Amino acid sequence: MFSGTKQGIKKPLLALLLLAAVFPVLVAGERLTLSATEQQWLDSIEVIRLCSDPDWMPYEAIGKSGQYIGIMSDFHELWSDMIAKPVKIQVTGSWEQALQFMQQKKCDVLSSAQDLPSRRHYLSVTQPFINYPFAVATQPDQQFIINLLPLMDKTFAMVKGYAGVELIRSRYPDINLRLVDSARAGLKQVEKGQVYGFIDTVPSINYQTLKHGISHIKISGVLEQYYSMSVGVRRDLPLLLSIYNKAITETHEVERQRILNNWLSLEFDYKINTTLIWQVLAGVLLLSCLFFYHYYTVKRTNRQLQLANRQLEHVSRRDHLTGMPNRLYLQEAFESELERYHRYGHVFSLLILDIDHFKRINDAFGHVVGDEILKRISDLLTQNLRGADIAGRWGGEEFLILCPETDLQGAWRLAEQLRTLIGQTDFGIDKMSITASLGVTDFRDDEMIEDCIKRADQALYRAKHRGRNQTISF
Ligand code: GH3
Ligand code: MG
Ligand code: MG
Repeated sequence: MFSGTKQGIKKPLLALLLLAAVFPVLVAGERLTLSATEQQWLDSIEVIRLCSDPDWMPYEAIGKSGQYIGIMSDFHELWSDMIAKPVKIQVTGSWEQALQFMQQKKCDVLSSAQDLPSRRHYLSVTQPFINYPFAVATQPDQQFIINLLPLMDKTFAMVKGYAGVELIRSRYPDINLRLVDSARAGLKQVEKGQVYGFIDTVPSINYQTLKHGISHIKISGVLEQYYSMSVGVRRDLPLLLSIYNKAITETHEVERQRILNNWLSLEFDYKINTTLIWQVLAGVLLLSCLFFYHYYTVKRTNRQLQLANRQLEHVSRRDHLTGMPNRLYLQEAFESELERYHRYGHVFSLLILDIDHFKRINDAFGHVVGDEILKRISDLLTQNLRGADIAGRWGGEEFLILCPETDLQGAWRLAEQLRTLIGQTDFGIDKMSITASLGVTDFRDDEMIEDCIKRADQALYRAKHRGRNQTISF
């Protein structure tokens, strides 16, 4: 039903037929029940003309040969089946042109839109079908961000023309925004230090950094603002709006997750060709072993969903090079430690470890060797900490260790052990030893976690200043 539809059945046909018989919610394209007026209106048109953003992966894009791909493409393909009306993509060169096409009535539907005052004279939107929080990507050595308010003196990049710009501006009216043409351009500016951060949703940042090999970038914070995506419908087509609202309401959660997982680079192999299924279905309805298959398939699908969700959880909290906890993970660990501190008075301390003259090692032996050394140090830290300590990668060649139930003296001893261990380890590079400097502090009453991290950072700075390969506690 959709121009540029894809793949056929991958699982054994019989299993799918049985699955379709007993578990219709898993099958794409359940026909919608429409009112007489909705149906009449739908019968009066040949196709639904869809406009989209040509470059907004993983949400959507128009490929070189004009095919429509991405998360939105899968949703619209599904809804086209449910509505039983073909949907035709209208190719545009930019998102701004797609908005123009809507105003000029060259399109009926906008694949994903937000309800903004500036668009209300020509656009209505459905209920949302996807919600993601905004996140900020910065260079790896920046502090983590919970709130943008203290950063109003910095400049952030966002993609121009996107509703997110208005949403962020309405929450932070004083923010300095630099509008860029694409997520890639925004991330590149962060990498080069031309802006402090790039704001977009987590899937978008993850996809673009992986696709364009942008490595010196970290997600430093997830904001409280959510980006809710709805279908945009021409204001003069209220019946089409109610049809899409019905399609969204009737979209099963399993199907929704399948589409999202499919584009968030996790393997989830369930492409179902509905036409073929329903054609052959009549012949197999009588099979008596139906319920066994039903039981088996539902169980397996649930297992796959759980696994995919667990993988997604895991990946978003790990550093891709070393596999250690990343900033997001550490941020959550701070929050739970802070709660224990306030509730039970349990003390905790922090260590920040920075490898000395790491640039020289990269310069002398190349980045690949540099990466291997980062992995070795990550292993050393992980293997030589006590069970309750949490070590993570804080930035490029900086690691942060959170030590629950540990006072300043205990943390200093641990820091010295780690420093000695690194100094004595043979990393297999000619004539160069590797050393590290450490800053140590403990959490104190009435301070914010940021203050504590800053103090550890200052101690580290002092250690560097005094000649490196030493620990300073503040
Ligand atoms: P200092 O003793 O003052 O810390 O000196 P330094 O050279 O370690 O510090 P500086 O901050 O000047 O440079 C850090 C270097 O770490 C620069 C950068 O190329 C390197 N680096 C950061 N992340 C990575 C990474 O993921 N892999 C590799 N190979 N190098 C990295
Ligand atoms: Mg260093
Ligand atoms: Mg450093």
